[in-house]
Amino acid sequence: MKNPHFKPDRQHHRPGGFQNTYQSFQGKRWHEILRWRWQAWRAGHPRPLQDAIPVVAPDLAFIHANAQAGLAMQPAATWVGHITVLLQLGGLNLLTDPVFSERCFPVQWAGPKRQTPPGLTLQQLPHIDVVLLSHNHYDHMDEASLLALSRQAGGCPLILCPLGHRAWFARRGIHKVVELDWWDEHVLAATERNARIPVTLTPAQHWSARTATDALRSLWGGFAVRSPDCHLFFAGDTAYSKDFTDIRHHFAREHTPEAGGGFDLALLPIGAYEPRWFMKDQHVNPEESVQIFHDIGCKQALAVHWGCFQLTDEALDEPPRALDRALAARGMSRADFVVAAVGATHRIRPRDRLQAARP
Ligand code: ZN
Ligand code: ZN
Repeated sequence: MKNPHFKPDRQHHRPGGFQNTYQSFQGKRWHEILRWRWQAWRAGHPRPLQDAIPVVAPDLAFIHANAQAGLAMQPAATWVGHITVLLQLGGLNLLTDPVFSERCFPVQWAGPKRQTPPGLTLQQLPHIDVVLLSHNHYDHMDEASLLALSRQAGGCPLILCPLGHRAWFARRGIHKVVELDWWDEHVLAATERNARIPVTLTPAQHWSARTATDALRSLWGGFAVRSPDCHLFFAGDTAYSKDFTDIRHHFAREHTPEAGGGFDLALLPIGAYEPRWFMKDQHVNPEESVQIFHDIGCKQALAVHWGCFQLTDEALDEPPRALDRALAARGMSRADFVVAAVGATHRIRPRDRLQAARP
């Protein structure tokens, strides 16, 4: 099948789909998948949890008051779990990769089951203005959650996604979709309730697949959201690559010290990385995630993509311990790279009010 978006002058475009900039992704072969599963079984992976995954009751009073605050909104990120984060910035409520289902799999009677409940239920969410969808893997693009959001009171959110997803949404009657190529910008227009917010799709080292025959057909990526009160980076699903220094260079002019510095918060994945020989070209480990923190030049990060679905060999509670070791090696701490409880709200220092306070 042809890639209808194919442009021969774009390095990551292929006639039949897309590819990474720095390291081409090769679909794993059956014998590699069997070798991984066999070795994991022999080694007794994944191990049981040593620590319970921290879960707190969401601060619904804050979240809902903030959702209505318009331009006085306090920039904040609430971790719903796994890759799903409620972002409140610039007067808008955004949701990254909404996954509220029990399992991240084509059917709900098999596949990885949730180990922690969503920090907020779909019913507890405020009205969502925008969904940022990173790619079509089942632990990121959850049909039931997207359908529920499309029917929320007040209407379907705007769905921003990489190229190659429009037809999937159209088949489900969802048309409020904007597809972006890497580095394409979509501007959320200013109203009296919200700021003007440019959103750019950024590259990632990953891949896509929904069925046995559609690998690499649709694009994947992350998002750079620049609201006057908060510049936020959402990495999506990614391995380590030079893409992150490219991202820093791309936004350098918006991130000078006079302009308020780098991203105020980065949502960076820290889980689903063992064994390395199998996962290294698709998922970062915590050490690489800390390197991305430095590469993009963010002020603070929030750990995501862990603690919910057992997708790989490391224990579900191992990523924060590995992160602590990686942070200590760089003289950093969890004050820099926040590990939140499921359901917790992380408040972000407002960027514009900081700047206004400059002498
Ligand atoms: Zn993925
Ligand atoms: Zn994932």
